[in-house]
Amino acid sequence: MMTTPDTLRRLPAVATSIALAAAFLLPAATAQASPVGDLQSTQATPSSAATAEATPGKNSKSSTSDHQYAAYSTDPASPLVLVNKDHPLQPRDYAPKDLVSVSGNGTEMVPRAAKAMKKLIAGGARDGQRLTVISAYRSYDHQLALFQRYTRKYGKDYAARISAKPGTSEHQLGLSADVGAASGQCALKACLADLPSGKWIAAHAADYGFIVRYPQDEHETTGYNFEPWHLRYVGTKAAQRMDQQDMATFEEYSDHLVADRKKQKSKTAKKEAAAERQAAREKAARDAEWERQERRAEETRWWPDWARSAFTE
Ligand SMILES: [Zn+2]
Repeated sequence: MMTTPDTLRRLPAVATSIALAAAFLLPAATAQASPVGDLQSTQATPSSAATAEATPGKNSKSSTSDHQYAAYSTDPASPLVLVNKDHPLQPRDYAPKDLVSVSGNGTEMVPRAAKAMKKLIAGGARDGQRLTVISAYRSYDHQLALFQRYTRKYGKDYAARISAKPGTSEHQLGLSADVGAASGQCALKACLADLPSGKWIAAHAADYGFIVRYPQDEHETTGYNFEPWHLRYVGTKAAQRMDQQDMATFEEYSDHLVADRKKQKSKTAKKEAAAERQAAREKAARDAEWERQERRAEETRWWPDWARSAFTE
């Protein structure tokens, strides 16, 4: 590099202008860091709010009676739909598109539930338990007639504990069936649970995707007395998870699925926010670099060529 006395005299001026440019750029670079920091703190708020939201649900689970369990699905065609007194069918007069008979008249279920029920009955037979479907799909009108009959017989309160108001029965989904011993012993009675067939049902229903929907001592949660005969198809994955995680009622399981979905959503939101922050940081760095180069070009525009080549490398 050639340095003449003339250059030397100019040097302090050049150095000052570079220093000035740097000083001008520096606060900009520092300023960029702080909005990113703010972004992080505002991002933290929604996720902590989501956690706070999930907590009361968990806490109120211990006092089941006044806790309304969340529905993971309200689609009456989904095996994971929650239907109970708090969650009527939508629409109330829903009827499944396809129904397949399991074993003769009055044993219709939606195709996949019917298929699973046939397998369950075959499985029982292999283990020496002859089972039969007593009742499966019931239409809205059928349920209405049934409920009115029970109400006349027992009064409204008791009728509501042993049968469902029309539009709130799982039988209307085509996903549920009342199953009993082929002998007819303890049909639709709690004593079924003490028979070998009832014990077989309780032990093996999950293998075929069914749950005993109204377990013993869960009236507060399900709204129904113990019905060891009422099986609900939820799919093998759900039935086995309930078994493994010791969740007695579908209400609890449904609530659990809703909490899981919330967690997953906030995880995704966090990931997206982190990606956005990273993109913002990269853009800020590109902008700063572009600005630096522009300023450098502006600074050196009037310099003689020899000075530019000496100082802009
Ligand atoms: Zn039933």
